[in-house]
Amino acid sequence: MRVPLLDLKRQYRQIKDECLRVTGEIYASQQFIMGPYVEALERDISNYCEAEFAVGVSSGSDALLIALMAADIKDGDRVITTPYTFFATAGSIRRLGAIPVFVDIETDTYNIDPAAIKSVLDKMTAAEKQTVKAIIPVHLYGQCANMNPILDLAESLNLVVIEDAAQAIGSIYKGKRAGTMGDFGCFSFFPSKNLGGFGDGGIVITNSENFYEKLKILRVHGGYPKYYHQLIGGNFRLDALQAAIVSVKLGYLDQWTRGRQENAATYRALFNAAGLDQVIDLPVEKQERHIYNQFVIRVPQKRDALRQWLNECGVGNEIYYPVPLHLQSCFADLGYSAGDMPDSEKAADETLALPIFPELEPEEMEYVVDRIKAFYS
Ligand SMILES: *Cc1c(COP(=O)(O)O)cnc(C)c1O
Repeated sequence: MRVPLLDLKRQYRQIKDECLRVTGEIYASQQFIMGPYVEALERDISNYCEAEFAVGVSSGSDALLIALMAADIKDGDRVITTPYTFFATAGSIRRLGAIPVFVDIETDTYNIDPAAIKSVLDKMTAAEKQTVKAIIPVHLYGQCANMNPILDLAESLNLVVIEDAAQAIGSIYKGKRAGTMGDFGCFSFFPSKNLGGFGDGGIVITNSENFYEKLKILRVHGGYPKYYHQLIGGNFRLDALQAAIVSVKLGYLDQWTRGRQENAATYRALFNAAGLDQVIDLPVEKQERHIYNQFVIRVPQKRDALRQWLNECGVGNEIYYPVPLHLQSCFADLGYSAGDMPDSEKAADETLALPIFPELEPEEMEYVVDRIKAFYS
């Protein structure tokens, strides 16, 4: 048997006719940039995410970048974030000349640890603390970070909060949807996300009308009115084709999310029955609605050998992420070294993502767990 980490062809079979119809309409209209499909998606996403406003953009990475630009983050400012995330979270900060301040994670959820934020701030000089302007919590793997203490801290220090919700669309924390708790929520339509396009795309949500207006201007090079520039933005536009596809898929998102959650429950039952609890830690569900963009197990012993074995058995898997961002060579100038973020470094050495996509068959999950059991016995 071969079990892929992700098989989007199975999803496409379900939506093919609708995708061909909407994209056909766009081919006929020959209007590819922005326009009614993008506006419709912005309405649909703001409804789905329970936010006031949404601005479609070119990618999840650009969603983070444009949010930081709208928050006026610039050269020398400091932005607190986690080192255990996709590169774009910190890359977007650094691209603006700002300084990522990394804070270690909780060992069970892999999300930024609010208590550690406080101790990092306490260790700063008063002058350094003055330059801290924002915080980017990441809702990793589909589960929200522990937002209330983060929001309290941000309020007391007057920090902008930008939620990196690229892996967490529709995830819920204490009754609130991912992306609506901070000043901005950033989402990605990269095909492997729970709501993916047929290419790159992203969206920023906000409840602030001021930020909404600024995002719209920054998206078109900062020109307002057209060809008059008070701001320097970029080309952060979303294609009509991507918007139309994502709108079609949004209609299925809750059904697909249920499929992922059911698969997670199936894995739990299979892992418990296999008696692997001494060697493997399963994902912890701490917040209300984990949407399982990834199903990530922790394997303290022989993770890399297990990985090689699964590859030989045809079981798709991945390490998200093998190098925590404070140890990336492009950030060497920030002065971090190995041992600075022990829990992120440990997670990078021990985690492994297994197939969890909604169309996965029970027999496939049985095979995955059976192969892992075989490895340890
Ligand atoms: C995917 C992802 C991004 C970037 O999204 P792109 O659309 O690929 O640019 C940013 N942050 C996190 C946590 C992600 O998973």
